[in-house]
Amino acid sequence: MTKKNDLIVITGPSGVGKGTLVKKLLTLNENIWLSISATTRSPREGEVNGKDYFFLNKEEFNLLVLNEGFLEWAQFAGNFYGTPKDSVQEQLALGKKVLLEIELDGARQVRKTMKKAFQIFIAPPNFDELEKRIRDRGTDSADAINQRLIRAKEELKAQNEFDAIVINDDIDTALLEIKNLMKI
Ligand code: 5GP
Repeated sequence: MTKKNDLIVITGPSGVGKGTLVKKLLTLNENIWLSISATTRSPREGEVNGKDYFFLNKEEFNLLVLNEGFLEWAQFAGNFYGTPKDSVQEQLALGKKVLLEIELDGARQVRKTMKKAFQIFIAPPNFDELEKRIRDRGTDSADAINQRLIRAKEELKAQNEFDAIVINDDIDTALLEIKNLMKI
């Protein structure tokens, strides 16, 4: 089956630089729309509700799960994250290229339900570099850092499941590769 690149999933371990890459992509092409996820994680300093995430409590999140409001959802490092379904469908119908920046479980769910989505895995140059980036970020507790490192190892093992792997060593090179894959 040919993959369409209207719905693009970007996955990769915490600290790999997905967020930075995605922000740069958005500035390159106004036809790209980034889905804003819901999460039960507390906002980090500077994060804005409705812009970075929809910050929900567990009850609000569960209600959306029960009402089938998510395209996919997953638990990650002690918190829940999910992609609101309606807005993704709306933006696809408007002809936008829709980007989902999500973790592995969610990418696997989307692979089943949205078979034409194109899935890109962002990998670090090596694990030591990733660990350094996660620790240097300085936004997470020691416990959260450990959970993210354990999860990062699992995610890296799954990279061959993806349609493409992009190594984020030099950010401009990685960006160019993603642009080519997205045909933008
Ligand atoms: P963070 O807490 O660092 O913002 O995000 C933790 C992880 O959750 C990242 O790998 C991020 O890509 C992922 N994530 C963010 N939003 C979603 C979502 O809606 N669904 C899923 N499955 N993962 C998400």
